Amino acid sequence: MNTYKEIVLKPKKDEFLKRFHPWVFSGAVASKFDGIEEGEVVRVLSHEREFLGVGHYQIGSISVRILSFKDEVINTKFYEQRLSEAFNMRKQIGLIRPDNNTYRLVHGEGDNLPGLIIDIYGNTAVLQAHSVGMHNDRAEITKALQTVYNQDNLKNIFYKSEGTLPFKADIGPEDSYIFGGADVDDVAVENGLKFKIDWLKGQKTGFFIDQRENRRLLERYSEGRKVLNMFSYTGGFSVYALRGSALEVDSVDSSSKAMSIVDQNVHLNFGDDPRHKSYSEDAFKFLNNIPNDRYDLIILDPPAFAKHRGAVNNALQGYKKLNHSAFEKIAKGGILFTFSCSQVITKEQFRLAVFSAAAISKRKVQILHQLTQPADHPINIYHPEGEYLKGLVLYVE
Ligand code: SAH
Repeated sequence: MNTYKEIVLKPKKDEFLKRFHPWVFSGAVASKFDGIEEGEVVRVLSHEREFLGVGHYQIGSISVRILSFKDEVINTKFYEQRLSEAFNMRKQIGLIRPDNNTYRLVHGEGDNLPGLIIDIYGNTAVLQAHSVGMHNDRAEITKALQTVYNQDNLKNIFYKSEGTLPFKADIGPEDSYIFGGADVDDVAVENGLKFKIDWLKGQKTGFFIDQRENRRLLERYSEGRKVLNMFSYTGGFSVYALRGSALEVDSVDSSSKAMSIVDQNVHLNFGDDPRHKSYSEDAFKFLNNIPNDRYDLIILDPPAFAKHRGAVNNALQGYKKLNHSAFEKIAKGGILFTFSCSQVITKEQFRLAVFSAAAISKRKVQILHQLTQPADHPINIYHPEGEYLKGLVLYVE
């Protein structure tokens, strides 16, 4: 047994935890030991004082994120164990290969480490804390990472937490490299394609690894097509479409910084390729201004329109409007890859929004594929909220 401070739940509020759901909501807490600090590890007990789990305490609607349902100490050894489980799973399913050194090593609750994200880009790990506890534990996590990967395989550990914590973390650009920083190769390989990753200033950890399998599927549909990649960010889908022998590929994103990286990514893989053009523009305006039938493969991968439950209805209207424009514009026999990464929007809700958009456009539409997040973004079966990425591949007659 350890000596962590304790939190006691209200009667009957232990059911979720007994089913291994890793969150304790603030409404379930009956009493807590005085002076618990945000980010501290606590022991959670049922009303009958039965041990339920240990986890990070945080102020907010989720009071505790459970790290273990065993009464154990959360230290470097604990993280070593969890990280090696995560590494072994990815190795075993064939995700870590010379032609694929870009993958998510830790996906929060999906890897039984709520609040922690670790993405691997070649010999750099980018660590992101979404809880104060993980922020506090970054030194232990770093040590554990170094043990799991030997020194030759991991040269840099970059820590990034802007916007993910309730306070402004005291971390400037100069000390964001917890380890390394001198021998930095910012070009990573995904399914044999090269991508420059801007973990320093880019969005999230620098790249949207979660679309890897969906990009591969897109590659198979690209031959001979005129492709429009909306919300392209650094051009993941565009580069796959070019390898898939698309006739033309246009990338559109409102971020001019992202667009300059798209150009570099195209160049890294294909040199000067006249098939590709970049536009830093608003996606909605761009779609409205193109002539009908200009494209016969359109990708819509917008940012999360709903970040919380209160925003669901507006978000659904947003998806409907966007998809409606695509249905209006796409050429006969076109293929639409359409996504939502809003965690609070269900598969069914998204499908209904796309269905409504299709109905207004009066086009005949068939679902070819239903897509989701890849295996390195696993969903903990006891935490269904972990399923966030939804996609449909549609044939538009
Ligand atoms: N498909 C990308 C990830 C897209 S993330 C990939 O595979 O890497 C969402 C992107 O939408 C971000 O790059 C953001 O800059 C862009 N974005 C947000 N609002 C936009 C708008 N109104 N018009 C165009 N792009 C927008």
